[in-house]
Amino acid sequence: MAKILIVEDEAKIARFLELELKHEGYEVAHASDGRTGLEMALEKDVDLVLLDIMLPGLSGIEVCRRVRMESQVPIIMLTAKDDVTDKVAGLDMGADDYMTKPFAIEELLARIRVTLTRHSGKHQEETSKEELSYGQLVLNTAAHSVSYGGEVLTLTKKEYDLLECLIRNKNIAMSREQLLSKVWGYEYMGDTNVVDVYVRYLRQKIDDKYGIHMIETIRGIGYMIKDETN
Ligand code: CA
Repeated sequence: MAKILIVEDEAKIARFLELELKHEGYEVAHASDGRTGLEMALEKDVDLVLLDIMLPGLSGIEVCRRVRMESQVPIIMLTAKDDVTDKVAGLDMGADDYMTKPFAIEELLARIRVTLTRHSGKHQEETSKEELSYGQLVLNTAAHSVSYGGEVLTLTKKEYDLLECLIRNKNIAMSREQLLSKVWGYEYMGDTNVVDVYVRYLRQKIDDKYGIHMIETIRGIGYMIKDETN
């Protein structure tokens, strides 16, 4: 499995990322300042770098610039909200992608997968894995599109993320807290009602519309999508 280096000085965010990435099966390393991050990013076994911009010691932009002088390791920059200058600077310095904080963890995980796939040049082989399905429901995770029996569904970003998360974890009862953390990210910790609201939206748009029973309520825990039986 790929090894991901997190260069992030905010301990809470770093910890959150580390747990989520490990949960996905990645190996994780962490540096909390720019200089250490630069050294570690140049180590041979790192497959991808998550690089915060506001760092003590050496800024993320500078780390990115120096890494690129020696290495083509994929870099995803983590930028502060709406800081367009930072995004442009990061991409100019050779970053592969950027995420604006605060972000939903599922989106970051998707971008990590895409970036790793693109970098390893296995895009063609992996194409089939970008489709997830449940019966006649098909999710294209690269395009973030959903269709049922060929009919395209209009889902909001969060509805899509929640659906993808449930389908990726098929046959696993997902607690509201897990769904909240995976779909909404660390900034929403604590407010689990939002999960129920979005499950209701998904049921209206899919279960009710097509007369199926896809999303099950697991009493006392949360929700689960089982293998399709119909
Ligand atoms: Ca920071």
